[in-house]
Order: sequence, then structure tokens, then C-alpha cells
Amino acid sequence: MEIVKIVMPTPYDEGDVNGFLVKGDALSIFDVGPKTKEAYEALEHGIKSAGYRLEDIEQVILTHHHPDHAGWVDAFPKAEIIAHKYVDHWMRKTEEFLNYREEFYKMHMIKQAVPEESMQRILRIRREMELYGSVPLTKTMEDGEEVPGHPGLIAYYTPGHAQSHFIFFHQQTREVIGGDLLLEKISSNPLMEPPVDLSFYRPKSLVQYQESMKFLADLDVSTVYAGHGNEVVNVKELVEMRLERDSMRANQVYDILAQPKTVYEVTKALYPTVYENQLGLTLSKSQGYLDLLVKEERIRCELVGEHEIYSRI
Ligand SMILES: [Zn+2]
Repeated sequence: MEIVKIVMPTPYDEGDVNGFLVKGDALSIFDVGPKTKEAYEALEHGIKSAGYRLEDIEQVILTHHHPDHAGWVDAFPKAEIIAHKYVDHWMRKTEEFLNYREEFYKMHMIKQAVPEESMQRILRIRREMELYGSVPLTKTMEDGEEVPGHPGLIAYYTPGHAQSHFIFFHQQTREVIGGDLLLEKISSNPLMEPPVDLSFYRPKSLVQYQESMKFLADLDVSTVYAGHGNEVVNVKELVEMRLERDSMRANQVYDILAQPKTVYEVTKALYPTVYENQLGLTLSKSQGYLDLLVKEERIRCELVGEHEIYSRI
């Protein structure tokens, strides 16, 4: 693929984010950075250096809805905006959707036995959405579809890190535009998110994420153009490492469950120094390991009153 990498700064811990300009029958950009002034400047500079203007971009294609990837959809007035249909909720931010989302998190944090005060803090943070874009999608994509204007480039649905996550696999070159599915330096987090059908069922993010990584490993990929950091070429090896690390952490959680515990209690035990400042993230991670152990039938989950209690089998 004729591909130009554009690196943009973000205000988040993971550092810079990558967008990829791809010239096929159409001129497309995959991911567009957070809606900050600094990211806009980097984006504009990158596109100019490649010999184009922002108005020349015909398609903005998003790997997922997180703000570090989807913010500057607003900068391309003439482009089609293409992504998983779930992304559209984050662009439109209707009162109805924001309320649903808040109800979803509230319901699950009660099950996890998160104290009221912490819960309010997390809900407040989740309301801050200024780095998200605000242009609705003009086209949605399905699993297995060919990307318009790019013959041989196939979108594959790979949920886990985000419920909207796609990778784009080029059948001839075996290159992948990978979003946050597999990063060189950091393992990306399987965040707890509302499901695509906007019900109150909680997707098992880590279980999904592992399946998506295994799918990628089986694709026989030459290069992954990752959402953060360098390109990845040792895909199978890196996936293997990520899976091993997860099972190590899951074993630690199993040890913690010598006594039955709630998700909040497991989180405190697993992340004693950071859980207070990064509660949303650490809850998602602990929940993920618990879901893995339930799937492996090593532990069970029972609803006692309004809390879910996990215990060894
Ligand atoms: Zn990201």
C-alpha cells in the first residue's frame, strides 16, 4: 500500500497517536487524532508534506471511536466519514445516548461494589467529551467488507479494546492498519464499554480482545501499522507475549480469591497503589481477568444482594 504515517501528540498517557494517509482509487486517512490544537497542526503538516490539502482527503476512516483516534473528523468538510455504526453515538452525543451510557456504567459499578463517591467521580470524568469529534458518520462498515476506494483492503471487526474496533487487512501485501489491537510497546486495555446494541448486557472485553488478537495472529500479516508507536512485524510472537501476560495476571487474581471478593475488592488488591487514581481503568482490567477465569471455569460469579461475588470453584 502507498501509505504515509502522520504522528500526532495527545494529552493522554499513551503518548503520540498515528494516522495513516493511504492513496488508492480514493485518498483516505485512517484515524485523525484528538481534537486539540497541537494534533490539528501535526495533522495538517503531515498531509501537506505528503503533497495534499485537508480538502483533498476523500475519506476519513476510523479504527475505533476513542478520542485520540476520532477527534479531528471535524477537520475534513468534504470527506466521507466511515466507521463502525457504534462510533456514530459518540459523534452525535445525544442526551438520550449520554443518559443510557451513564445508566450502563452505574448499573455495572453497583454490581462491582464500587463506593458511591468513587462512582460519582468516574461518571463525572466520563461526561467530559470535548476531545471527541462531532461530525456524524456518512457511511458505516460491516465485518468483512472491502473499504471503498481501496481494492483488496478488507475491514475486520476486532472488538475488545473498543466495541467499535476495526482493523484493515490488505489481501495482496498482507499489511494491516491495526488501530490499537496490537501495539509494540504497551498492551492496550480492554475497556468496559456499553455493547453495540445499547442494551445493558456487559461485553466481556478481555475475552473479546484475546479472540481479536488470535484472529490477527492467524492472518499471516507482514506489517501492522499500529495506532501508537512503531510498526509491528513480529505479530505472532507479540500476541503470544500479550496472552501469556494476561494469563499470569489472571493467576494472580485467582490467588487473590482465596476468599470470595467483589470486583472492587479484587481491584484494590491487584492495584493497591494506583486503583484510586485510575479506578475506571483498573476496574476494567480486574473485571477482564475475572471474566477469563470464569470462562476457564476456575471461578464462579454469584449475585448476592446487588453485588457480584467471585469465588473459586
Ligand atoms: Zn489509542
